[in-house]
Amino acid sequence: MNYISTRGGIQPIPFKDAVMMGLASDGGLLLPQSYPSVSREQLEAWRSLNYPELAFEIISRFVDDIPINELKAIIDRSYATFTHPEVTPVLKEDGIYILELFHGVTLAFKDVALQFLGNLFEYILAERNQKLNIVGATSGDTGSAAIHGVRGKKGITIFILHPHGKTSAVQALQMTSVTDANVHNIAVHGTFDDCQDMVKALFGELKFKDEYSLGAVNSINWARVLAQVVYYFYAWLRVNEEGDKQIHFSVPTGNFGDIFAGYVAKRMGLPIGKLLLATNENNILTRFINGGDYSLGNVVPTVSPSMDIQIASNFERYLFHLFCDDPDRVKAAFAELKERGRISFTPAEMLKVRADFCSYSVNQSATLETIRNFHEETGYLLDPHTAVGVKAALEILPSDSARICLATAHPAKFSETVEKALGKAVPLPESVKELQGKPTRCEIMDPDLEKVREFIVAHAG
Ligand SMILES: *Cc1c(COP(=O)(O)O)cnc(C)c1O
Repeated sequence: MNYISTRGGIQPIPFKDAVMMGLASDGGLLLPQSYPSVSREQLEAWRSLNYPELAFEIISRFVDDIPINELKAIIDRSYATFTHPEVTPVLKEDGIYILELFHGVTLAFKDVALQFLGNLFEYILAERNQKLNIVGATSGDTGSAAIHGVRGKKGITIFILHPHGKTSAVQALQMTSVTDANVHNIAVHGTFDDCQDMVKALFGELKFKDEYSLGAVNSINWARVLAQVVYYFYAWLRVNEEGDKQIHFSVPTGNFGDIFAGYVAKRMGLPIGKLLLATNENNILTRFINGGDYSLGNVVPTVSPSMDIQIASNFERYLFHLFCDDPDRVKAAFAELKERGRISFTPAEMLKVRADFCSYSVNQSATLETIRNFHEETGYLLDPHTAVGVKAALEILPSDSARICLATAHPAKFSETVEKALGKAVPLPESVKELQGKPTRCEIMDPDLEKVREFIVAHAG
């Protein structure tokens, strides 16, 4: 399986090169040249597989340049770190299925992809005798999952910038309590945007980028999307046992990575009814799906911070397919966005969008109310991101269908908000309690690009 760019500017490359390239060198995003299709008989045969076995079946269809036993070992190692025997179990609460994706080390679904990516990086770097310095900015979830994905790994050093005092307490501790020699936390006196701007500036210095082999771990890496395709199949197989109802997925969306993985599963033949794209007040994608209006607004901070995004980085992957795999149409769309702050779509394109997706936007007071009501009715605690998806599903998916809501974070990770919704303290899992007394290591800095560059030079692998 080879990979191409949404901007059409690179020759097809094999999987390992696509992983190492991250963002395509022509500025586009990488996609497989075609999608393997999975028949109904094949699906039935997969019913008895456990999570890592199913992950191998799916992932190996996209990878032909890693020996089978090596790929198996990478997958097994990645999912052995999860604390639930099923890795991503599905529960039923009050007629709604909850797909729990938060049993990894940092209690958010990003572990599913970043454990795998960390092991892949280590394998490829060892094989090529190369080193990688990962530099990234985070508002909380991605940084902690990335750090735990690569801690202690040979050939990799990671530098994560976060806004000092502006992540949740648990998020900050999950990052700074990792004291492995290859992990460097930089807390910046400033905002997430200050962090992001400095990282972008460093990647823009091509000589520096090459000399220090800078790499990224943000959600544009194809391997992350690929790892996430697996749990759509896994959940479908569990829920379909209950009978032959239409099966829909509700996905709390920020960068469009998670829901794009669902779209890939659907294209491979998984019988998914609708992919429900749930947003908070940052609802550009809801306006797009429901009204064809893709126009940029300002980012509003909410109680579901991992979804506070206007330009969803993975959306370009979907646009490429929506535009019948035409890179020129993709380039024209982004030129329009740059010039006029919007992208226009034809009625035929919008019909295509609505064949696969529906969407609903949930404001903050409805999010808190959903956490409260759902807990009262079922005793089950939703984190604020998951609550957005559950509310959207309750509002617009038919109650006689199977509604699977992706639970993207453990409620303890956002306990401040959950406590506000319930008016009482929430129980913390052991792994969170243990964080409290742990030694931490973190460099606190002003938003000064020069200082950040010096720090990276002094500690690079
Ligand atoms: C990252 C994240 C999301 C959004 O996922 P995307 O792939 O960016 O759409 C939702 N919920 C939580 C808890 C997250 O960490």
